[in-house]
Amino acid sequence: ATVSWIGPPAAGPNDPAIFVFLRDLTEQERIGQMRADFVANASHELKTPLASVLGFIETLRGPAREDEKAREEFLGVMAREAERMKRVINDLLSLSRVEMKAHLRPTDPVEINEVLDYVRGSLERLAAERGISIDLQPLDGPAYVPGEREGLIQVFENLVNNAIKYGREGGFVRIVAGREGGKEPMLSVAVIDNGPGISEEHLPRLTERFYRVNVADSRDRGGTGLGLSIVKHVLNRHRGQLRIASKPGEGSRFTVLLPEHEQASAETQDAGSLP
Ligand code: ADP
Repeated sequence: ATVSWIGPPAAGPNDPAIFVFLRDLTEQERIGQMRADFVANASHELKTPLASVLGFIETLRGPAREDEKAREEFLGVMAREAERMKRVINDLLSLSRVEMKAHLRPTDPVEINEVLDYVRGSLERLAAERGISIDLQPLDGPAYVPGEREGLIQVFENLVNNAIKYGREGGFVRIVAGREGGKEPMLSVAVIDNGPGISEEHLPRLTERFYRVNVADSRDRGGTGLGLSIVKHVLNRHRGQLRIASKPGEGSRFTVLLPEHEQASAETQDAGSLP
């Protein structure tokens, strides 16, 4: 909503109300521009595979009608393109769901080792297809964060999935959980790969929607460009942080920091030490 001026006319160009009004408008314009960019990007991401499917339908109706081999091949391509549209739509829906919940702080105690073990289990097969093994180093005992299990699973699935997808064939993916001191005790989870890495200039932009280092490469690997922006939004809801470090030619490390649910962690540790 724009701020409208009600009351006596402003005194002069330095009147604070005028200043507020102008600033508010530019902010509105900026948000409007971002929304327009987002809609244009999303439409483009869906239009490209759709155009390809429509093209193949035409070919199947015409020149390839009687050619069984071509028909099989084209159906395969169409299925892949349809899968791609499905991934983009699912990620768009995930993103909009987190954005709608942005103001709600998740508070359930979620045990982080269990979440990481679940994520490893769900991606083990995908990793094996690329000859990659997932090495999970959990925390010593149960450790809790105030959170939402589904959202946290999505965060780590996206990070581990990227590490597999962009990692080196036959390489490794490590998930290392730990604690970090400071003003507030934080749990840290690092997802590390020994893939090709990412050069420095891209790092600050990786969590932008649809930002990809190499669009064609991401597409070939089944990416949508939305994974890390979903990660960022879920972590914001959890008062968490994402740190990215990478060395081209050596690999990448994505570290998630989450405030610890000290009470829940302490309670289970006490209970665990009873005779
Ligand atoms: P995508 O769906 O394209 O993977 P993401 O938002 O998850 O989108 O990631 C954005 C981009 O960051 C990717 O396109 C890729 O270029 C880069 N990236 C993410 N994770 C890694 C990684 N582990 N190694 C190398 N590059 C990565």
